Amino acid sequence: MNWIRGAVPSIYGDTMDNVNPATGAVICKIAKSKRADVNAAVQSAHDAFPAWAETPLAARCTILRNAAALLESRLDEFARMESEDSGKPINTASTIDIPRAVANFRFFADFAEQEEPATHPMEGGVNTTHRKPVGVVGLITPWNLPLYLLSWKLAPALVMGNTVVAKPSELTPRTATAIAALLEEAGLPPGVLNVVQGLGPDVGAPLTEHPDVQAISFTGGTATGKLVAAAAAPGFKKLSLELGGKNPAIVFADADLDVAVPGVARAAFTNQGQVCLCSSRILVEESIYHAFQERLIEELASWQCGDPALADTKLGSLISLDHRKKVHGYVTRSKGTIHTGGEVPEGPGAFYPVTLIDNVEQSDAIVQEEVFGPVATMQHFDTEAEATGLANGVPYGLAATVWTSDAEKAMRVSKALDTGMVWINDWLKRDLRVPFGGMKQSGVGREGGKHSLDFYSEVRNIYEAT
Ligand code: NAD
Repeated sequence: MNWIRGAVPSIYGDTMDNVNPATGAVICKIAKSKRADVNAAVQSAHDAFPAWAETPLAARCTILRNAAALLESRLDEFARMESEDSGKPINTASTIDIPRAVANFRFFADFAEQEEPATHPMEGGVNTTHRKPVGVVGLITPWNLPLYLLSWKLAPALVMGNTVVAKPSELTPRTATAIAALLEEAGLPPGVLNVVQGLGPDVGAPLTEHPDVQAISFTGGTATGKLVAAAAAPGFKKLSLELGGKNPAIVFADADLDVAVPGVARAAFTNQGQVCLCSSRILVEESIYHAFQERLIEELASWQCGDPALADTKLGSLISLDHRKKVHGYVTRSKGTIHTGGEVPEGPGAFYPVTLIDNVEQSDAIVQEEVFGPVATMQHFDTEAEATGLANGVPYGLAATVWTSDAEKAMRVSKALDTGMVWINDWLKRDLRVPFGGMKQSGVGREGGKHSLDFYSEVRNIYEAT
């Protein structure tokens, strides 16, 4: 169902199947919406905007905190929906996805309330920085971290006084409509958040083009990001693009392997390798290459595919059979050496084993392109310069990890990398205040803390003579 002042079907009456990729079973039908549904949602958001924009910040923050508490109390229900829609292990959904969505609502309520308005006195007067809501914003999100990413956009958008039309991935639709219902239960006025389900070209494209939508925040693939950027440009809309990645893990010979081996495994294969930040290229200093590889293969023995509904499953299903075909295609076309995995398991579901490949060339598609599955390549290097050259030698620039016990080297290498984020001796440590976003083909703009508040508001200056 869509959510436009309550749960509603598509105006056209069309539906599509929402499939559990781990079993192939149809979970439910969802609305297969089109332009008229988008128009209705934008109108609803447009009508709700003046009153919401005028609602005091403290009242908006209270609603977000109420929503966080409600979501926390329904964590199991939301985690189950997320796991069934996406095939991810229930453990991932209940320890990463939903807790992070709770944290997003709480964090942005606190952060926005604590912000001091900036003033710059000067001779003759004083400048005050003032935030004004942007208007109706469109939030377009992918399937890999559905509510985690939607709430990451939704919380700052709402707290800044905007109204929203959200377009979740057609592959993971349920938590978006469910969070709209929950937010209204938490006190959000009808029309402030609207959700339109359906395919990207049918829903995302008309939302991006709509003249009454003033900003688009998009997270998804780089190819789709290009379409979104082109469609948004003629309207001079504010645009945030969080796109794909091909992230390196650089392991130096002086790394503590007791930390680096499980750390790199987690960075490469969490959520079946379907996190934009996953380290899919493992670069290891020549002198420890074979020792590291041996230990990593040993470590990966515990990363077995299993039923996502079971609490101890570490590796669930990929998002779809089509996606598995794409992932496996990269593996079969690679001329590298497969050390573990690399074969499609028998039986139902879109499962794929953790796969490690080496003897690859830097120019190979499997090294240059985002596979977005449990597949990592290994390459070796001799010098720091060679390591950063390999790391930077791809079109993407989202994130990197560096593993070494030499703090100075770690900082030197981190600064030389063309990525928006670097983790040293760890991965996916997130402080919600810090800038998040990519360089090169990985995106435009930053989210997080003040960066999110800046995107979801018009930052203005008011000068008053004294
Ligand atoms: P996708 O680009 O296929 O789809 C993303 C969203 O865009 C979906 O809701 C889709 O329906 C919609 N869409 C499709 N065509 C559209 C169009 N023409 N106009 C507007 N919207 C359209 O991406 P995906 O396969 O759902 O997600 C995986 C990708 O997302 C990977 O590339 C991954 O790296 C990236 N990602 C990036 C980040 C980040 O923060 N940088 C985070 C998560 C995922």
